[in-house]
Amino acid sequence: MYEIFADMHVHIGRAENGKPVKITAAKTLNFANIAKECADRKGIQVVGIIDCASPYVIEDIEKFLKTGEAYELKDGGIIYKNKVCILLGSEVETSEKARNGKKGSAHNLCFFPFLKDIKEFSKEMSKHIKNITLSTQRSDLSGYDLIDIVEKYNGILIPAHIFTPFKSYYGNCTDRIENIFKEKYKKIFAVELGLSSDTYLADTIKELEPKTFVTNSDAHSLPKIAREYNKMLVKDISFKEIVKALKNEDGRKVLCNYGLDPKLGKYHRTYCDNCNTVIETKEPVEKCPNCGSTNVTFGVFDRIELIKDKKERQSPENRPPYIYQIPLGFIPGVGNKTIEKLLSTFETEMNIIHKLSKDDIEAVAGEKIAEAIENARTGKCQIHSGGGGNYGKIG
Ligand SMILES: [Zn+2]
Ligand SMILES: [Zn+2]
Repeated sequence: MYEIFADMHVHIGRAENGKPVKITAAKTLNFANIAKECADRKGIQVVGIIDCASPYVIEDIEKFLKTGEAYELKDGGIIYKNKVCILLGSEVETSEKARNGKKGSAHNLCFFPFLKDIKEFSKEMSKHIKNITLSTQRSDLSGYDLIDIVEKYNGILIPAHIFTPFKSYYGNCTDRIENIFKEKYKKIFAVELGLSSDTYLADTIKELEPKTFVTNSDAHSLPKIAREYNKMLVKDISFKEIVKALKNEDGRKVLCNYGLDPKLGKYHRTYCDNCNTVIETKEPVEKCPNCGSTNVTFGVFDRIELIKDKKERQSPENRPPYIYQIPLGFIPGVGNKTIEKLLSTFETEMNIIHKLSKDDIEAVAGEKIAEAIENARTGKCQIHSGGGGNYGKIG
């Protein structure tokens, strides 16, 4: 067994034919470039690409397999240059009956072992989604029905960024995910925390105790890949091994979650959309204390305060640690030029954030930047919470 790094939530911007897949994502974010970025710059061994049900992307994958640099593994997944295993995924938005009789919607990450499985899934989902070529389109299904379709094609379902205000189970559907999946709730073995929460916040909700937590980047551009990721213990890199790790089976497991300090996330605290301020009251409020407006976007921290059912933030014994990491791009004074310089010397961002000594960094980037990186590493910097779609800030 050995340790690997996995980021299971990366979007595609454009297909290689130039057609948009996720309109808000970068154009350079295509299937082949993601594989290369993970292999060469990020030091990630498993990447979940979650726009693979788009027929345009399926075409790209078929082309990619013909280059001879990649092939399908017998245990599922595509291996690139014997370095990176790509998991074929699809992010699906479900329609739920939500709080106070409103309409809710939640995102789900669905992963499949083989290209033929996701092709069949794509065909079936095109009956439930208006435009299957685009990323994360709304379906007319509930999570309760979606999971059956996913399993029919040998896939797994992971509720995505579960606390996010507009598009998640806790954010705008329900106080208990079990209410959505009912007797199928035991088939959910992992949930994605999202950038604005962490293990300690999530472990105030009892129904999450038996579930594995995953931390992924939700990257909309190449540099953002691996801003959150998981360290796993596996025998090999393949779909089957990753599923085992998520299920905590046969010694495979998630060893550690790496992620942003949740304050840096875009939706950590409630945000007033009228006077554009992050509301940092001790107790969650539904009305802005500055201007009195009720036009607020509820924060992840605030949502958890409302729905938690455990007094203490106590994690189950087998819960892996959650390590805060601050991506280089968040550190004041570290611009793109510096990042390029550091990467050309030290290869991967992961090396720079976690492994190198301050002296090594100083030799390349100077004392001031080495200090800033060291402060970010050791939690010595002050963070102002994000909210309403704006990232938190350092300093
Ligand atoms: Zn999403
Ligand atoms: Zn206000």
